[in-house]
Amino acid sequence: APAPPPARHLFSDPAEVETLRGNLLAWYDRCKRDLPWRALAATEPDADRRGYAVWVSEIMLQQTQVATVINYYNRWMQKWPTLQALAQASLEEVNELWAGLGYYSRGKRLQEAARKVVSELAGQMPRTAEDLQKLLPGVGRYTAGAIASISYRQATGVVDGNVIRVLCRLRCIGADSSSPAVIDRLWDMANVLVDRSRPGDFNQALMELGATLCVPKAPLCGECPVKQHCQARRRKLFGNPPPVPDIEDCGVGDCPLCPPATEPWDSSLGVTNFPRKAAKKPPRVMRTATCVLERRGCHGAPEYLIVQRPSSGLLAGLWEFPSLPLAQDLQEEKEREELADHLQAWMGQPVAAKSLQFIGEVIHIFSHIHQTYVVYSLHLDGDVTLDPALSPSRWVTEDEFHASAVSTAMKKV
Ligand code: SF4
Repeated sequence: APAPPPARHLFSDPAEVETLRGNLLAWYDRCKRDLPWRALAATEPDADRRGYAVWVSEIMLQQTQVATVINYYNRWMQKWPTLQALAQASLEEVNELWAGLGYYSRGKRLQEAARKVVSELAGQMPRTAEDLQKLLPGVGRYTAGAIASISYRQATGVVDGNVIRVLCRLRCIGADSSSPAVIDRLWDMANVLVDRSRPGDFNQALMELGATLCVPKAPLCGECPVKQHCQARRRKLFGNPPPVPDIEDCGVGDCPLCPPATEPWDSSLGVTNFPRKAAKKPPRVMRTATCVLERRGCHGAPEYLIVQRPSSGLLAGLWEFPSLPLAQDLQEEKEREELADHLQAWMGQPVAAKSLQFIGEVIHIFSHIHQTYVVYSLHLDGDVTLDPALSPSRWVTEDEFHASAVSTAMKKV
């Protein structure tokens, strides 16, 4: 078995842990942000509804800023206040409400999981982190810990991006924070630290600290409620920790949690030396031709054709203007011809490449894809019969377009 890491990287003093918990919770009680899911979790007497309310917030907050989520969350909870209500919704309704929030598979999975709770678990949310993770599709270790600690007061820790940053700074962890070895240690640490009587508040406090004070670029250490426990701050103020017996080897041997010898502490970075991550893979570059087909509707207002994407993969089930992924480095003329062929198959009538009017390019960054939409438009006279054997499609006015389940990228287009 690997040797345990040096004490400097652990919380091994029970008295210190107790003080840290008290300081953090007192700060949280004073300074926490008012957020709708917190109010629901604190006041809702029904345990299943409480679990559901926290679950929805946690899924929406994955990859999305709090300020953006609030409005979506309120609308969601108004429309589907219970698991049972969500289980009866259609995927189309879910996608419409989710439109603009990004990472669309989250909404779909939330709804599938709600259906599972209603049909297979008699409408009862699992009550522990272990069962939540095991039984609910789309619920990983973090979300399960958050729901169980906040809704059901299970004394279990959580580790998300904010917690990783705070813990790595508190304990000078400079090894790659995305590596399984470091992540396992951080979970151990979170489980040691979590307050036994107020686990949900403690976890939220740790995340709140990372979101508001211990931020990535310019942390506000002077205002931090746990600064006296912070090894990174101590190192910034006083240099290397003094050599006491249990830490003297740290960083010179093969400590699994210290920064690698090739990337030592950089004094110009201070506490932001931590955490460290292996370099990210560059995003995939994609080019897609898309055509805004326009016709006069029966009341004279313009209408646009939108088609539905396949039910799996990127932007599953969302609607878009007819689009075609392109090979890289195609000449413009060739791009136009390929798009015309694609539209021709759609409409069952010839489309001349030169009738497509080039409008411009729209760049949209998905998490792992750098997407360029090459936008064309085509005005149609007379009626067009769309091939019913192809994906579902419909004509919409501009207002209907904005109310449909379309991605932010298509709204930009
Ligand atoms: Fe983060 Fe600074 Fe607090 Fe340390 S003292 S936990 S670096 S905000």
